[in-house]
Amino acid sequence: MIERKLFGQEHEMFRDTVKKFIDREIRPYHYEWEQQGIVPRDLWRKAGEAGLLCCTIDEEYGGLGLDYLFDVVVFEEMAKSGFTGPGFLIHTDLVATYIKSFGSEAQKRQWLPKMVSGQAVGALGMTEPHAGSDLKNIRTKAVRDGDDFVINGQKVFISNGQLCDVLVLATKTDSAAGAKGITLFLVDTSLPGFKRGKNLDKLGMKAQDTSELFFEDLRVPASAMLGAEGQGFAIMMTKLAQERLAQAIRSAAVAEEVITYTVDYTAEREAFGKTIADFQNTQFKLAELKTESVIGRVFTDRCIELFMNDELDALDAAMAKMWLSNLHCKVVDECLQLFGGWGYMWEYPIARAYADARIVKIAGGSIEIMKYLIGRNLFEGKLKARQLAQ
Ligand SMILES: Cc1cc2nc3c(=O)[nH]c(=O)nc-3n(C[C@H](O)[C@H](O)[C@H](O)COP(=O)(O)OP(=O)(O)OC[C@H]3O[C@@H](n4cnc5c(N)ncnc54)[C@H](O)[C@@H]3O)c2cc1C
Repeated sequence: MIERKLFGQEHEMFRDTVKKFIDREIRPYHYEWEQQGIVPRDLWRKAGEAGLLCCTIDEEYGGLGLDYLFDVVVFEEMAKSGFTGPGFLIHTDLVATYIKSFGSEAQKRQWLPKMVSGQAVGALGMTEPHAGSDLKNIRTKAVRDGDDFVINGQKVFISNGQLCDVLVLATKTDSAAGAKGITLFLVDTSLPGFKRGKNLDKLGMKAQDTSELFFEDLRVPASAMLGAEGQGFAIMMTKLAQERLAQAIRSAAVAEEVITYTVDYTAEREAFGKTIADFQNTQFKLAELKTESVIGRVFTDRCIELFMNDELDALDAAMAKMWLSNLHCKVVDECLQLFGGWGYMWEYPIARAYADARIVKIAGGSIEIMKYLIGRNLFEGKLKARQLAQ
């Protein structure tokens, strides 16, 4: 069996801490949070205290300056636990790294220490009711007024939307300039003019708050701009590979965990005087899924290595996201089948895993957009139709 060689002893010790945190602070309460549609704020502070947030942020900004594998450990253990309420991944992997990579010194000092400690929760505001895959089409406007910008518009499907204190917000500063008219702002959500809409009712990820957000004459200083004016789209594109890798990491971990507990279940459950595992169909099905999960693991780990060497390109990240998302959905579907009716019951982790899985083919760049990117690369320079960005 192929052995994972990525992690050192220090990562495995940290993994143990993360598992204990999940058992102590999340497992007993997650069902209740699913009913409430949100996790408590206090969980974020506790996660910060336990060192689970933004592991790579440098010491001068309140972090521990650890390597990316520490973040990977948190993403994997959260994924394996099946508890999708806490939106740690977006906070750590996207919002904090946007600020780390593109923030001014003042922005880093203002937000990063609070994000590490869990005092401030981060969210990423790109999608709008009329623009998801096609982000160039966003309509939220930021208009300069002296030293300020005045923002009007709305976002939808924003993870951590009810809890967030800081929002990376994509706006249009020049409606005529297409992608070059997009500018990002770091919005302090306590400012007047920032309004939270509904916490949306979803198919899965029931304890994760996913919201509409509204901006009504929200006035921010020009110093709240993240990167330069008109560079928002380019910044978002540079971070996409990392976001897609994180999705692949999560999917690889879910696939492994689901296969493991399906093996355990089918080895116990009986029908026709045998265990379900005694049926050759069960063994063949799980043999196929296990093999694909190992293939996915090897590919994902290689992408992690490339990322850590600054060598992960958009193509490999798109392939990883596409392939692992498909595998994730296939594994939860086929394993649920082996649980029979019990697999449809919410109290069984496989039922939650099934409901939670569907989003991975949509968010963070849909399967179709990944295929488009991979196809475009194959036919580079040979296609006649107008090309999309992404
Ligand atoms: C639970 C959840 C959490 C989310 N969290 C966030 C968040 O934190 N921040 C944020 O900004 N957004 C978030 N999103 C939004 C998510 O990223 C978008 O839903 C996604 O990008 C797809 O956009 P859309 O929903 O507008 O679908 P559309 O863009 O309308 O796409 C509809 C369908 O058309 C397909 N399609 C689109 N363009 C093409 C093309 N060129 N070729 C072929 N097919 C195409 C798509 O693949 C899809 O199947 C979240 C969404 C959900 C459901």
